[in-house]
Amino acid sequence: MTQEEKSCIFCKIVAGKLPSYTVYEDNQVVAFLDIKPINPGHTLIIPKEHAPNLAELDPEIGGKIFKVGVKISAALRRSGLRCDGVNLWLADGKVAGQEVLHVHLHIVPRFRGDGFRIQVGPEYGRSPTGSELATNAASISQALKSV
Ligand SMILES: [Zn+2]
Repeated sequence: MTQEEKSCIFCKIVAGKLPSYTVYEDNQVVAFLDIKPINPGHTLIIPKEHAPNLAELDPEIGGKIFKVGVKISAALRRSGLRCDGVNLWLADGKVAGQEVLHVHLHIVPRFRGDGFRIQVGPEYGRSPTGSELATNAASISQALKSV
């Protein structure tokens, strides 16, 4: 276990060194309640193996995290908790709002009037030119070849 993993609160939860309110677990991922929920039932899904960000996460495990997220979203709607909709939220990197540097997918139950909102920046709504979109698409396509 690396120093980073030793000090990681999610690795401690996986190792059973910190308590959690687990809702799902298998050999690759674990899902537990967020202790500072946006709304009741707010769940986090994490890979059991430490990965600080998506670039260092096995895409197969990423798929598994999303698959479990789909199931938990459906379960929340049947759980009796207040849930008329769901947001899936994954912050990748500190600048994106990631607070614990161990990949985690938030499953946030939503209901009308819950007060939660995502605020966009001042550039939102500006339509890029076709040339900008083509250049950006080509940059991403090219980079995908080395991932
Ligand atoms: Zn960790």
